[in-house]
Amino acid sequence: MNFELDPDVEEMRTMTVAFARRELDGRHQAAGGHEGAGVPFDADEFRRRWLLAGKQGVVGGVVPVEYGGSGLDAVAASAVMEALGYGSSDTGFAFSVAAHLFASLMPVVEFGTEEQKRRLLPALCSGERIAAHAITEPEAGSDALNLRTRAESRGDHYVLHGSKCFTTNAPVADVFVVQAATEPGRGFFGLTAFVVEADTPGLTVGPPYAKVGLRGSPTADVHFDGCVVPSANVLGARGAGASVFSSSMKWERTCLFAAYLGAMRRVLESTVAYAGEREQFGAPIGSFQAVSHRLVDMTLRLESARLLLYKAAWGLARGSEDEVGPALAKLAVSEAAVQLGLDAIQVRGALGVLEGEAETLLRDALPARIFSGTNEIQKNNIARALGLSGNRRRAGRR
Ligand SMILES: Cc1cc2nc3c(=O)[nH]c(=O)nc-3n(C[C@H](O)[C@H](O)[C@H](O)COP(=O)(O)OP(=O)(O)OC[C@H]3O[C@@H](n4cnc5c(N)ncnc54)[C@H](O)[C@@H]3O)c2cc1C
Repeated sequence: MNFELDPDVEEMRTMTVAFARRELDGRHQAAGGHEGAGVPFDADEFRRRWLLAGKQGVVGGVVPVEYGGSGLDAVAASAVMEALGYGSSDTGFAFSVAAHLFASLMPVVEFGTEEQKRRLLPALCSGERIAAHAITEPEAGSDALNLRTRAESRGDHYVLHGSKCFTTNAPVADVFVVQAATEPGRGFFGLTAFVVEADTPGLTVGPPYAKVGLRGSPTADVHFDGCVVPSANVLGARGAGASVFSSSMKWERTCLFAAYLGAMRRVLESTVAYAGEREQFGAPIGSFQAVSHRLVDMTLRLESARLLLYKAAWGLARGSEDEVGPALAKLAVSEAAVQLGLDAIQVRGALGVLEGEAETLLRDALPARIFSGTNEIQKNNIARALGLSGNRRRAGRR
């Protein structure tokens, strides 16, 4: 076993931390906000930073070099995501990068034809174009195979009708990976994944949501009203949509959550520093066991979640098909992030409930228990792997 990162990955991590501190933190974060945060979403500012992230090799991280990416494996990609989370308190931006890279570009890398890869990937890796992944619908969240969005085959093209919700990056996306039912009722084999250009007639995007956290990441509804999509834009094969989706979730449940490891480390460090400086009863509060043990528990949660995540990334980098490792990583990191946010607020006392790093972590961590398949669904998946649940539909499939 070797717990060290390769020197070139270490270097990339250092450079990414510096980049995130320089370009993504502080005043820039507000510009990525939305109406709910009292700041209108600024798509131009978001795109400006996205292009810089593209130049940094961040938004095409795991895409092979021949298609314009950085050719990172899952361990290196996790290190880069961790660096983004550590260097900037705008976890929303890192989340947007992950939704683009792991849920939208990786399906093209793993299931796309050579023509699709050459046509789509270079501009998506350089930061010139942004991708989004749309499967969730108002009536189909955890029950992701039960889609109402239909794609009807008409010879050399399909016609899409339906609506998606909670689509990350939708307000800025140039291209969407869309899941639609081609054979409703056929369950796992009833879905097909399509690449849909944002300017396709009949595709419309709603206004950015006002979210509790991840405010630097724009989210919106997407509607398809008679959208004509060439058959050449089917990803994988007709009926392979669920396989495309499952594969992308393995990436997301592992590498995306590394951004939270970085955010937790940053907040843990500032919390330890605060406990060393803040004095009550003539001593630093960190000298009181109730406080120091809380900081130890925060460290324990972070380090154990980190081990699970890098183990899952290590497996992914070796082509493992294991779904339990990524599910465990997703569960551990998201729960640790919520608890660490609560603890960081508690150690700060009243200052913790003012706007700042601790409350931001908590707000950003809450959605992590929900996206990429809720934590309850991860437990269903792990229980199934343990041989504990028979009915896939009833147990939750996502
Ligand atoms: C910030 C954010 C970004 C997102 N980005 C995207 C995106 O880019 N693209 C996209 O397609 N989707 C996206 N989503 C949607 C996300 O994937 C769904 O919200 C998620 O799958 C859960 O679906 P739901 O919200 O409809 O909850 P529901 O499925 O309605 O679940 C509600 C509650 O019931 C529980 N539950 C449901 N079924 C079971 C069961 N069988 N067993 C036990 N408990 C169960 C759930 O765990 C949850 O607690 C995003 C969500 C968030 C919050």
